[in-house]
Amino acid sequence: MAKRNKRRNKPSNSSPSTEYSPPSPNKPRFDTQQRRLTRFYEPLVLLYTLGSTRGEHICAVLPTQVSISHLPHKDLRQRFLSELAYTCDYDKGGDTVTAISLDSTPQRHVFWVASNSCPKGKIVPFLELLLVRLRHMSTTAAQSTAEEAEEIAAQCIGFATPRIKKYRSLLSPLLRRCLEYLAITEQQDGMFDYCASLHIPGNPVDLCRIAYENRKSDFMRMLARLSVEPPYKSNRDAIHNVFGLIRHYIGRLGHHFRAAAALLSCALRLPELLHDFQVHSISTPPKSALPPADGKTRLKSIVKRMLSKDSPDLDRYTRALMDMDAKYQLSRRFLENYSDPNPKPRVHAEIQVLEHFYSSKLSFAAGDPFIACSKPACFRCLLRPARNIITDVATYLL
Ligand SMILES: [Zn+2]
Repeated sequence: MAKRNKRRNKPSNSSPSTEYSPPSPNKPRFDTQQRRLTRFYEPLVLLYTLGSTRGEHICAVLPTQVSISHLPHKDLRQRFLSELAYTCDYDKGGDTVTAISLDSTPQRHVFWVASNSCPKGKIVPFLELLLVRLRHMSTTAAQSTAEEAEEIAAQCIGFATPRIKKYRSLLSPLLRRCLEYLAITEQQDGMFDYCASLHIPGNPVDLCRIAYENRKSDFMRMLARLSVEPPYKSNRDAIHNVFGLIRHYIGRLGHHFRAAAALLSCALRLPELLHDFQVHSISTPPKSALPPADGKTRLKSIVKRMLSKDSPDLDRYTRALMDMDAKYQLSRRFLENYSDPNPKPRVHAEIQVLEHFYSSKLSFAAGDPFIACSKPACFRCLLRPARNIITDVATYLL
């Protein structure tokens, strides 16, 4: 769904005569297209207000280098595409999130790439070069060397420099805060000394290498322990979140080396994919503006439209929403999202790929409808393929 500017409108001090008064809930929505778009956005804005995740994070279990050599072909291809998607996502912030899927034609394989940052300009040329290099390395020897893995890692890190620099600038203040906390609380296990001695190089390759070398260190294990959420309610600035973020950024930085090694290992076992291939971009779809809230943009009305007025679940969901409204001001926060001056709705990359394969009647390679994405799918994207809602343009705008 829309990633929104975190700035909120300040409460207005305007006089009662100029205050905004919502239109009547009985005023009908006459325009058909506007009505469809409004109804389409309502559950998305509601989900966005409630938060973009549901339940536990489902993690794919990444095989080690040893087990890559024994992976079944389907898993191997999926791992290869996933690491490619990760290396293509060169910046932080959501616009460069990349999804890739493989189309199989009688002549060749085609890597289809989607992103909200116009993949044709930057991502596609990078991916072509990377695949050519992997093909060259995988056809000249039966085994990859450490130098080749280093070469691929350097290429990927060079491309992802904007993202790595942002991680670096976020990491430094977090480590300072971590040190301040440890100095006061006198944590044991040498955590303070380790944290104080941690050097953050300015060179992106060196930074990623240090992160990679530290991925299984005692420091990372201690960070994992200290980042466990406490049983009591805490805020975003709580210290366990600081430890968790440090661990997350170190993991993301180090993953570049892991991804490079995995790409090489996979490429050695996937010669048919790289023998003759093309890389194509999927045009970033146009964005539809979020319609303004009207008199019907109310939780009780929305839930009726989402479920239908005869649904046996209607009472339960209405009560749950009213309960959240009383406790957490859900209505106010929901409507605030409509008054955001700079909303940025975007179609998530994996849905762009899904729609492109569907509308162009393409065939997934080996009949495996797998869409690799550089980030885990959000709750909304997770539901869409399962419900097969890809027949209407309006239904896939996120
Ligand atoms: Zn999504």
